[in-house]
Amino acid sequence: MHRTSGEQDRVAERTGAFAPPPRLLLGPGPSMVHPRVLQAMASPLLGHLDPEFLRLMDEIQQRLRHVFKTTNPFTIALSGTGSAGMEAALVNLIEPGDAVIVGINGVFGSRMAAIVERCGGTLIRVEAPWGRIIEPEAIADALRSAGPVKAVAIVHAETSTGVEQPLAPIGSLCRDHDALFIVDAVTSLGGLPLEVDGWHIDACYSGTQKCLSCPPGLAPLTLNDRALAAIRSRTTPCQSWYLDLALIADYWAEGKRAYHHTAPISMLYALREALCLVEEEGLETRFARHRRHSAALLAGLAALGFTPFAQEGHRLPSLNAVALPPALEDAPLRTELLRQFGIDIGGGLGPLQGKIWRIGLMGESATRANVLTFLGALETLLFRRRWTGQPGQAAEAASRVYREQGLDEHSLV
Ligand SMILES: *Cc1c(COP(=O)(O)O)cnc(C)c1O
Repeated sequence: MHRTSGEQDRVAERTGAFAPPPRLLLGPGPSMVHPRVLQAMASPLLGHLDPEFLRLMDEIQQRLRHVFKTTNPFTIALSGTGSAGMEAALVNLIEPGDAVIVGINGVFGSRMAAIVERCGGTLIRVEAPWGRIIEPEAIADALRSAGPVKAVAIVHAETSTGVEQPLAPIGSLCRDHDALFIVDAVTSLGGLPLEVDGWHIDACYSGTQKCLSCPPGLAPLTLNDRALAAIRSRTTPCQSWYLDLALIADYWAEGKRAYHHTAPISMLYALREALCLVEEEGLETRFARHRRHSAALLAGLAALGFTPFAQEGHRLPSLNAVALPPALEDAPLRTELLRQFGIDIGGGLGPLQGKIWRIGLMGESATRANVLTFLGALETLLFRRRWTGQPGQAAEAASRVYREQGLDEHSLV
């Protein structure tokens, strides 16, 4: 399966085209992409200052405000992946000498901390063991003891551990201490509840290839007036020219549209279509779908001896982190899943390498058919290793969850 099928090989030979093998993407991103989104990317290009393209940008801004749950005029799709969103938020809001609290309980909190240090910020680390949330009380303690703090930065959905971080209490704390609240919503936007305005988030960024089910390449980003005021009152120029939001704002601002860099036209076509799909489904329905399939997946994995890794009550539906049963080998199993079944899942990062799996059920990937296909494939591999007594027990445990939720037996999604 890691090779293209015979027919694809022949087509590739004839045309020289790259023919990717079929894959079921159930990892930490990218997620599966709807055919309508792929089709949108194949549309002819417009000039990036064409009035029709500018209209498309307006539409994307409006649709992004809807998923971010914000009225912020500054709501854009930044060129670059989720990490560009992270870097843009931090390099614009932080000046040398600014004290910044960063919640660190996984890879992406650590990445934020690294960028804060590169900005010359004074980093205040609030850490929790990987797999646990950052307690809002720990942020409160840091805010009380640190003196003036410019910003608190935290990850909503820590993709390296599967933890969903509570944000609302931290947003209130930030207002009390007049600190900016910066949130990484890369693995939450479009997959689980996120309230930018309601939770007092001042700057929030995401990526397109996770719960929005679009290819990677854009970073949705929203800033409120407090964040914009902080950028306007900088005493030093932003260290990045490409990600300087004061310049980029002039390209996205209605009426201005001043050239800064060439917008990735086809990516914006794709994002517009992906956001249409989100709206057609409805946010609440979409969140419920993520929760339903996560519950079924975890039930199936439990039947095979896998245990949830993240703290109970704070488990992400979009990224299911599970600890492997002791005698199972991580890498060979994942290799067989990919080669024999075309199924791509994620392993553990850093200290969790070899210990956990990260199974993404994001956007288009979160379907009943995908959950049952994955469990069936895994059971087949485990049965060959004489690991399970009964093939079908995991799929049956998952199906039981679906039946309890009254899901139609014939529903693929
Ligand atoms: C994936 C991810 C990022 C980085 O996004 P890229 O698109 O890989 O640059 C940042 N934060 C979190 C929480 C992520 O899951």
